[in-house]
Amino acid sequence: MTTKKVEIVIPPKAAHFVGDGFRVHNFIPSVQKLDMKRMDPFIMLDYNSKFHFNPSETPKGVGVHPHRGFETVTIAYQGKVEHHDSAGGGGIIGEGDVQWMTAASGVLHKEYHEKEWSKQGGIFQMVQLWVNLPAKDKMSKPKYQAISNSEMKKVDLGENGFVEIIAGNFEENKGPASTFTPINMMNAKLKSGGKAEFNFPANFNTAALVIEGNIIVNGEEKAASDNFVLFQNEGESFTIEATENSIVLIISGEPINEPIFPHGPFVMNSREEIMQAFEDFNTGKFGYLED
Ligand code: MN
Repeated sequence: MTTKKVEIVIPPKAAHFVGDGFRVHNFIPSVQKLDMKRMDPFIMLDYNSKFHFNPSETPKGVGVHPHRGFETVTIAYQGKVEHHDSAGGGGIIGEGDVQWMTAASGVLHKEYHEKEWSKQGGIFQMVQLWVNLPAKDKMSKPKYQAISNSEMKKVDLGENGFVEIIAGNFEENKGPASTFTPINMMNAKLKSGGKAEFNFPANFNTAALVIEGNIIVNGEEKAASDNFVLFQNEGESFTIEATENSIVLIISGEPINEPIFPHGPFVMNSREEIMQAFEDFNTGKFGYLED
């Protein structure tokens, strides 16, 4: 086993709003080195770093919009999000929960701050990832996985803290999400001075996002809160040491290595398939969702 070295530590760029409820730093696909291919199958990552929303009687968020060809994975760190899709999926996710929505052949989707949380306002912090699907699964039936924090496998690391697995494996333990391609996704919740070691195949595209605290990777590379650590595709093993109480989101996935043809909320393999997506959307094939 050799060390998986850090390729680059990327600070967050200026935030922008998605709808009126998500103030995000986009890392994938708009930041240096992080186009849709580089972190395949993770083709989009928006990070709502801690941001205070004032109380609002009308929940803020994003109205009805379509998706086809991939999955949206929303991880709530602070605040509450309510989702609904035209395939009947939906629900509320709160602190520590994950919504894993497989849009696949197509859904209409809306995502808002949860009503009661919105009335109170407060600090909101969230990650949304788009996970690509292989060509053979892009037109499969939509599905929805609500993954509450209590369902996630927690691996106790004693004085170091613990690792909470959303998908894939850490050591001999497995997370609850079902995925179409090999994906590991987990939160390392480390105490100050705590350390953990991770092992993923060399060819898996691998990164860490510092949600909270400050870390040192492989004993040498420092990364502060809200920074994104991109790993090289060599070596398998890396360590994370927390210099204060920290939360680190770790993602690692086997590249699908197929053509990626994105257009807005559709991610397909060719221009023809994008044209078809527009046609299907315009002729109501994505179903109906009340605004
Ligand atoms: Mn959406």
